[in-house]
This record gives sequence, C-alpha cells and structure tokens, in this order.
Amino acid sequence: MQIKYFVVSFIMAMSLSINAQAQMPVSPGPDSPDSLVPVEPFHIIGNIYYIGTTAQSTSYLITSPEGHIVIDSMFEKSVPTMLEHVKKLGFKPSDIKYILTVHAHSDHVGGHALLQEETGAKILVMAEDASIVETGGKADSAVETPWTPAKVDKQLKDGEQVTLGGTTLTAHLTPGHTQGCTTWTTVAEEEGKKYNVVFMCGVRIDGPSLLSDKDYPDVATDLAGSYKVLESLPVDVYLGGHGYWFNLSEKIKRMKAGEGYKAFIDPEGYRRAINGWQNDFIDKLIKEAMAK
Ligand SMILES: [Zn+2]
Repeated sequence: MQIKYFVVSFIMAMSLSINAQAQMPVSPGPDSPDSLVPVEPFHIIGNIYYIGTTAQSTSYLITSPEGHIVIDSMFEKSVPTMLEHVKKLGFKPSDIKYILTVHAHSDHVGGHALLQEETGAKILVMAEDASIVETGGKADSAVETPWTPAKVDKQLKDGEQVTLGGTTLTAHLTPGHTQGCTTWTTVAEEEGKKYNVVFMCGVRIDGPSLLSDKDYPDVATDLAGSYKVLESLPVDVYLGGHGYWFNLSEKIKRMKAGEGYKAFIDPEGYRRAINGWQNDFIDKLIKEAMAK
C-alpha cells in the first residue's frame, strides 16, 4: 500500500486545511510556572465558577437553583481542596448532583469516586470512556498509573444533554485523546447577554503513532473528525481540560486587573488552539508516512 498516497488522500478526504503559508499557529503549551501555583476559586461567567486547584488542574462548577454540576474531579488528592473551593464560593457540596467528565485520565476522573462519596452526585461518562472510569484506568492499556474506580451512573452518547435547574450542557464526542473524549458546551448569561461556552476536551496527539497504534487503530480518523466538530462549535468563552490551553493564568490576571468576565471571551484563542493541534497532527501524519 502506498502509504504516502493514502495520507495525502486522507487529508483531502477529511478536508483538513494545511495553513503552511499562513502564519502557522503553534499548539498551546504550558503557559508558565504559574500553572502549578494554587488558584483561589473564582466566578468565570454567568453560573460558571472555577474550582480547580491550579491553572493546570482544572475543575468547573455550574450552579443552578436545583443543584449543581461539576466538570472533572481532578486527582483524588485534589477533591478536599475542590470542595473547600465550592464552600468558599458560597455553595454546598451536597447540592452537587452531577459529575461530568472531559476524558478518562487520572487528572480528570481520579477524584470521581471520592467526590461521589462526599456528595452523592451521579457520575455521567461518555460510553466509550465508561469502562476506563469503572476500572480506574485498567481498561486502557495506555494508562500507566491507575486510580480509584468509580461507578458510572449513566453512559452518555454523542449529542446527549444534561439539564438541571434551567441549565443545559451538551456532550460532543471529540475522540482521539481518548475514545470517549467529550467536549461540553452550554450558554451562560451575563449582564443580559448570552455567551456560548465550551469546555474543550483536548485533541493533542499523545499516542506513539497515528498510523499504527495497535490499541487505537482509528486514532487518525477520530482526531481528524474531532477537529471538524470543534471547528463547527459556536464559541465565545473558551475553557478546557487544562488551563494552559487557554492561558488561564494570564486571563486571571486580566480579570483581576479590571476586565472581569470579559477576560474569558476568546473565540480567537479557541480557533488558534484547534489549528495548532491540527497542524501538529498533519505534520506527524506526513512524517509517519514518509518514514514508511
Ligand atoms: Zn488526558
């Protein structure tokens, strides 16, 4: 099989755009040593709050009159700090009703079991990642450090919505980083205006190979599809699974300096991140093909 022709036709078939001549956006990297400095909880926009422990380890609280939703529990050791954050913001941990997930890795779901034990909330996970959460990572050969398994109360499918007290979150399957990688979207209201908010599951390339990953043979097709899905989402406020993807430390500084929630309105940063990852993907695809 002429793998080079395969790759060229694959890129064309997926209508991925190669911005080689245009100013090449770089994929987001850790923004600064600030990433690991503890972060105090704060209001982002509308009913959305940051309860992560650092800019690296992210977690979000979405509040409603009928209870709250958390996206990502981080590591098990992060949960006590996260629950302190919920209280500092004036909310009750026992009001947390749903625990959502961007993807089944220890830094996002390692605390699910403990958070469920502390709050009684239901754990909702995209079907493709559910067994990984339920085995504490043992169902995924790529996971090196297992974590405490958690019972999944509901398996989700692409496009499924979670609604609580007038807030709706939509689960978009954006596979590649894991097979159930989930990007969540919602609409937040601030000063009488509505904003499209995205909590992105990363689509960086982590696996050893795009063309011959025995454990994930469809990774290239999945990633290519995910870039298209992410590009299609309307986005005003860009949030995601790690703060350095969207320059969280810098945005916190701007927020405190007077910009408030407007520091988080960043559709360009969102597009830049996707383009950067997509360019890395095409680059690696071509390199792998040339080496065959
Ligand atoms: Zn991950």
